[in-house]
Amino acid sequence: MIHQHPPGTGWIEVICGPMFSGKTEELIRRIHRARYARQKVQIFKPAIDVRYDQTKVVSHNGREIPSSTIDQAAEIFDLLDPESRVVAIDEAQFLDTDTVRVARVLAGEGRRVIVAGLDQDYRGQPFETMMLMMVEAEYVTKNMAICLVCGAPAHRNQRLIEASGRVILGSEAEYEARCRRCFKPLKAEEDLLFEA
Ligand SMILES: [Zn+2]
Repeated sequence: MIHQHPPGTGWIEVICGPMFSGKTEELIRRIHRARYARQKVQIFKPAIDVRYDQTKVVSHNGREIPSSTIDQAAEIFDLLDPESRVVAIDEAQFLDTDTVRVARVLAGEGRRVIVAGLDQDYRGQPFETMMLMMVEAEYVTKNMAICLVCGAPAHRNQRLIEASGRVILGSEAEYEARCRRCFKPLKAEEDLLFEA
């Protein structure tokens, strides 16, 4: 994807989709390309995501890139290098909705902001931060995974184990990608924003 913007103009890109759809891989690809273009890049991810490494963004297939962990998006302002032209945030669904304001400020200062994360939880409900970010962004890329039941393009996260709480970090043992037809919520949820 090539974006032609006048110098000094910032923008926001979102990379969303279900687990196992290559979101982090796509984020890393864009970061590498920015670095080849000699642009200073900083990468942030929520401290909650320590599946692979505390200080790196690592994709499911093992590609990695150094990152800073944050608890809240506003910490990016403290850690920001004024020279950074590109600011990337991975697993942004775990950050609060203030992340949208932070991204807006960074883009307003002329930076390219790339935000990757899950758009839906295991019930098929939107993660609010990603939902709002998709509205704020100039560019949205929605990746599909492959349904492990039927092989169709898949946009849902099927939880395979009974568990309470919305945030359970994923692995192949706990979740799999499912298409619309094959997705089966484990039990009725009473607090759904939308009918699943
Ligand atoms: Zn299916």
